[in-house]
Amino acid sequence: MSAFAYRDGELFVERVALSAIAARFGTPCYVYSRAALEAAYREYDEAFAGAEHLICYALKANSNLAVLGIFARLGSGFDIVSGGELARAIAAGGDPAKVVFSGVGKRASEMEQALAAGILCFNVESAEELARLDAVAGRMGKRAPISFRVNPDVDPKTHPYIATGLAQSKFGVAFADAPALYRHAAKLPNVAVHGLDIHIGSQITELEPYREAARKALDLVDVLRAGGIALTHVDLGGGLGIRYRDEHPVRISEYAEMVRDLFRGRPERLVFEPGRRLVGGAGVLLTKVEFLKPGAVKNFAIVDAAMNDLLRPSLYDAWHPVDAVRPRAGDVKEWEIVGPVCESGDFLARGRHLALAPGDLLAIGAAGAYGHVMSSNYNSRPRACEVVVDDSQAHLVRRRETVEDLFAHERVL
Ligand SMILES: *Cc1c(COP(=O)(O)O)cnc(C)c1O
Repeated sequence: MSAFAYRDGELFVERVALSAIAARFGTPCYVYSRAALEAAYREYDEAFAGAEHLICYALKANSNLAVLGIFARLGSGFDIVSGGELARAIAAGGDPAKVVFSGVGKRASEMEQALAAGILCFNVESAEELARLDAVAGRMGKRAPISFRVNPDVDPKTHPYIATGLAQSKFGVAFADAPALYRHAAKLPNVAVHGLDIHIGSQITELEPYREAARKALDLVDVLRAGGIALTHVDLGGGLGIRYRDEHPVRISEYAEMVRDLFRGRPERLVFEPGRRLVGGAGVLLTKVEFLKPGAVKNFAIVDAAMNDLLRPSLYDAWHPVDAVRPRAGDVKEWEIVGPVCESGDFLARGRHLALAPGDLLAIGAAGAYGHVMSSNYNSRPRACEVVVDDSQAHLVRRRETVEDLFAHERVL
């Protein structure tokens, strides 16, 4: 059963009415279901039961401490892309020994922080980064565990902004360069070669690109092994898509079957870096209709959330479901759901058929991933609060920013 469902004409999250959350915490407000978060993690984890594996939740998708804490308690590791994310993972109770560090631009200070914390692995994305890491680890008297993030040049058939494994992408090292880089790394005094990593993109809804990338990765692992470099883990990245509109996302069971087939009898431990798949469907953005502005060409419903709260529609032309919290009988019209920000690109949804009145609450669905984390203060709008619902309890897990918060770090000359 979905954690988001109508009961007596009203949309609930688990056993709490969204209208009650709006009354208590105000709008706009992100609302996550603990049951949905846990179910998504367990589905992924259980699909690999019996195979040596570690799930490293990619926390850039949703890094609220409460969300991280829920996953940490289930045994999750974390895929981080900055020192800030490492600090968050640890603050939420995450185990640094289950952390992998991705990203093309790791600073020396971030490397130091991660080495001091004792992370599982650095996913190295260039020869220059390798040299920097070797030097930093040497200064600290440590050996840095590494994987290379290898770019398999596979088309994940997703939005160009979130395709990361094509030859023209900034991510990873080229396949052809990988053997020489591994040989070089194996000779460095302050790094220890542990694994190989691929991550080909996000919101991927087909299995084939994964199969192709994983096969290429294993061929490379075998070449390295023949040359005397034995890897202990293979990290297949994240990227599995979710349903926003009418997509048919890959089932975790199908994905797991494909991976298990390829890895049957192999010694390497599996690592995964899912982000969106674990959180996307577990959250909504709750917003209120401020004004209705019917027009000659288009009808605008102006709501109190905007592109600064949920950027995906403006950035990727992403489609999110929009549902009335208490659907009303009456005149259904076609609406552009827009925010108060002074940009024509400020829209949350277009051409939606709804019966609306000012004051109505709307739930923007599938907003648990790349929602609050991508929000900004553009137009000096305080960022929305975040709430986690656990059965019949609603917990405020990030308070709404105040106007004073907005310029707390500024001063007048
Ligand atoms: C963003 C990212 C992920 C997670 O991607 P999703 O599409 O959210 O699963 C995993 N690994 C790396 C390196 C990333 O940058």
